[in-house]
Amino acid sequence: MNWEDMTAAEFARAVQNTGVCVLAMGVLEKHGEHLPLGTDFLNGHTLATLAAEIEEAVVFPPFYFGQIFEAMCYPGTVALKPTLLFDVLQGVLDEIGRNGFRKIIILSAHGGNKFLVNYLAQCSLAEEKPYALYVYQGLSKKQQEKWQKVCETSVHGHACECETSISLANHAHLVKMENIPAEPTLPLNRTKHLDAGFTGIHFYSNYPNHYVGDAKVATVEKGIALRQLQVDSLAEFIGAVKEDEVVPDLNREFFSRVTDVKNLKA
Ligand SMILES: [Zn+2]
Repeated sequence: MNWEDMTAAEFARAVQNTGVCVLAMGVLEKHGEHLPLGTDFLNGHTLATLAAEIEEAVVFPPFYFGQIFEAMCYPGTVALKPTLLFDVLQGVLDEIGRNGFRKIIILSAHGGNKFLVNYLAQCSLAEEKPYALYVYQGLSKKQQEKWQKVCETSVHGHACECETSISLANHAHLVKMENIPAEPTLPLNRTKHLDAGFTGIHFYSNYPNHYVGDAKVATVEKGIALRQLQVDSLAEFIGAVKEDEVVPDLNREFFSRVTDVKNLKA
């Protein structure tokens, strides 16, 4: 069920029937020369919508603010300041909670959000909220093996064979296969001497054209198969979150102990 498609009365019933809202986070950024700027939020929202048809949940409208400073050197990127981005995200989560959802799932449809969404989850312990926050972490090892069997290439990550295939399955009219470079793009490894560490320029150091692997071999059939793996995995996670009472119970226990600390007297 998509939040924006329902009437207010239908929405109220959906909150009561499901208790769970899925926020699919994408960004606006370059995806090689062949995929649209909105690839991540378009694919993320489609994934969440399909999973919520299997395991009922409300899906938040397409959301395109995320961590994407590494793409500021290409046209079309929208990168909010760190504190503003965090406040927007926290505000959106709180609004979802204020509307009655006891549980919120964040699905990151953009690789560059991976630290941010886990940090958001950690920050849910900074202050007691009326909702529990869950971050979906993607496919299991077994599902990843199935994923790799569908693919012909092994270097993935951005505008690659997988993402292009899924884009063909979701919105083929926005994919410009004729723009894909003739040669594959492999990592340049320009910060290889720092492999034990991490820097903000890491992705750019490998892929200065914001394109990874070889998308020429992408097909709609592969996209449908890969998307199904993601949909089944996310639907399973939504089901597990709906059943879960451990996290809400632990949150209550935790905050009651936080209150105990506050009440300590000398
Ligand atoms: Zn992407």
